[in-house]
Amino acid sequence: MVKYRQMIGLLVSLWLLVGCIPNGNDADVDTGNQLQVEMFKGDFATVNSFIFSNGESIIVMDVQRKSYEAEKLIEVVKAKQLPVSHILITHGHTDHFTGMPVFRSAFPGAKIVVANQAIRDDIKDYAIYMDGFGATAAEPPLEAPLKPKTAAHPDGFDYENYIEVLNTDRLELIGGGVLELTTDYKEAEAPHMTTVYSPELNAIFLSDFGYNKVHHWQGDDISWQDIANWREELLRIKADYAERNPVVYPGHGDVTDMTMFDDMVQYIDDYTRIVQSNRSRSEAMRQMMELYPDYGEADFFLKYSIENHLVDGID
Ligand SMILES: [Zn+2]
Repeated sequence: MVKYRQMIGLLVSLWLLVGCIPNGNDADVDTGNQLQVEMFKGDFATVNSFIFSNGESIIVMDVQRKSYEAEKLIEVVKAKQLPVSHILITHGHTDHFTGMPVFRSAFPGAKIVVANQAIRDDIKDYAIYMDGFGATAAEPPLEAPLKPKTAAHPDGFDYENYIEVLNTDRLELIGGGVLELTTDYKEAEAPHMTTVYSPELNAIFLSDFGYNKVHHWQGDDISWQDIANWREELLRIKADYAERNPVVYPGHGDVTDMTMFDDMVQYIDDYTRIVQSNRSRSEAMRQMMELYPDYGEADFFLKYSIENHLVDGID
């Protein structure tokens, strides 16, 4: 009988002891703010959006090129049943900001934010460009809700009042977690760009400095100098983050690692050599597709990039 009691006592002690050792889940509950990220992959233009959440609030980064894609993204965000504090737009290209009006309606309490004034200006300028004579066949026209608000278009988008300028290099999630914003880049894929680093995730979100197995967008207003700057910035970012070795999330294509930087530099060198040594657009296209057969957006990004840089091409 004594032995039985001792055994019960031992078991109770063991149970108490085990109960006191925190396991992984308890640790998460204790901090309450484990930052997570979910990548939303748009079909149109293979453009990525990101949902940062910590169990208490959400920040969304970039909102797609088509309203119907933004609606799908909104469904994913709403399923999390958490308040959205910010919608961060990284740069002034339509594939990252077209979803703004539908997000504004879906999450009226969320702030649409950009890192600085220059990016807000880029967004409005690009919208005006897409809405006017500058739009090429490269992209579908601007969606009506993004027409700038004017006397003639009183229901248009009020860029100055609907988009808030952060003017800081940190965006904090309600409930914990920080996104570090970097914007001191040369004019490259866009005149101004925001990249995001998350120390908690050890992950870098390159926006359109990053293309993973997707042809780079070098169309429209992207000059050879912009491409050279892009190459230079890729090497700088690679060096800056080499020691941390973060997970790499591109603006277009799948999540990857630091090897992407060398792949992109190689791509830029191949593109420059092929396009500058050809007089025919179709021949340059053929050579690029032969070198990069599995890359996405050949009929969109590559086609209009070559049209942009091979203006005298005979086709
Ligand atoms: Zn993009």
